[in-house]
Amino acid sequence: MIIAQHILDKEGTIMPYRWPEDTRFTRLELVVEERWCRTCGGALTTCDHRHHRVFTLNGPLHLVCKLAHCPTHACPAHPQTISPEAETAIAMPWWVLGWDVVCWLGQRRFARHWSVGQLRAELADTYQIRLSTDAIETYIHRYQQMLAARHQAPDQLAIAYADVEAVMLAIDGLQPEKGHETLYVVRELECKRVWFAESLLSSATTEVQQLLVQARVWAERLGKPVRLWMSDKQDAFVRGIAAEFPGVPHRYCANHFLRDVAKPLLEADSRAKVKMRHTVRGLRAIEREVLAEQRLPAPPRLPEAAGEPRRTAEAQEGRRDVVLDYCTAVRGILNDDQGGPLHPPGLRMAAALEEVRASLQRNLAVEKGGQRTSASRV
Ligand SMILES: [Zn+2]
Repeated sequence: MIIAQHILDKEGTIMPYRWPEDTRFTRLELVVEERWCRTCGGALTTCDHRHHRVFTLNGPLHLVCKLAHCPTHACPAHPQTISPEAETAIAMPWWVLGWDVVCWLGQRRFARHWSVGQLRAELADTYQIRLSTDAIETYIHRYQQMLAARHQAPDQLAIAYADVEAVMLAIDGLQPEKGHETLYVVRELECKRVWFAESLLSSATTEVQQLLVQARVWAERLGKPVRLWMSDKQDAFVRGIAAEFPGVPHRYCANHFLRDVAKPLLEADSRAKVKMRHTVRGLRAIEREVLAEQRLPAPPRLPEAAGEPRRTAEAQEGRRDVVLDYCTAVRGILNDDQGGPLHPPGLRMAAALEEVRASLQRNLAVEKGGQRTSASRV
């Protein structure tokens, strides 16, 4: 059995991967690109081989990295070992997945929202790459780190902002879970990019100030003026932005404003819902009555009102079903709590109940017209 060498990852934990005995590797030899010692100019020689086995989307790869060093003992560079750079273009030295697989994972996870289980099954089925759930999670985490690093790379940022005249910045604190430290995110609104995020243990002005300084450094490095700041009215933001960006307009976030305005609205809406639920009641009693009727043996002939056409037992049965359906619909409407301040649930409830009322009216009108139909009981 071939067991891959233990791979020491950055966090210092050992992540061995046990390759199945019948794994067929494509062997690839990599040599150090440079031929001459940078310090003394002498020829480099091969001093060791490092074996690195990785999964790629095209099958398992066995990289044989020929390590080189300067053989001259007197050269200060002599103790250094040089690795082929080409290796890092295929996979990072301590990884068991090639870049192509890591990118495949990240794209499926974040652009298509695949679950880890789905990723795991697809990797195994289509690419014969068998990984544990936590290994996949580890690589997804690495993908995120790489993506963040790329987003923050100054040259990438300069390209993204080449055509932008001025930047507009926003800062907000997010608390993923109650009691956890708050994650402060600085975003740029012109290109809709997250610039950076930092979790702070306190929202003290001095800590927030550091983030604002960082934002200023970024804008200066880009050579772009800051046209506008946007945030909620948290004291640390108001003071910090005024201090760090004097003269830059600071607008307060419309979303926070809307949320404050929405509060009394939602309270009134909630009271209206209670009132409607109070008015529309007795569903259970109607249902019980209908179900009790259903359990009785069907009478051979139903009583007839004067002038009404004779009804068959089947028609009566159909009417009961319609009554039960109405009850179900009304109960669904009364239990529906979906909707925010822009679509208050109470307004939706009122509209839906009105539709039911109109539907009942239509049925009643048809009934009066003498046609055989449904739901007059409701
Ligand atoms: Zn040398």
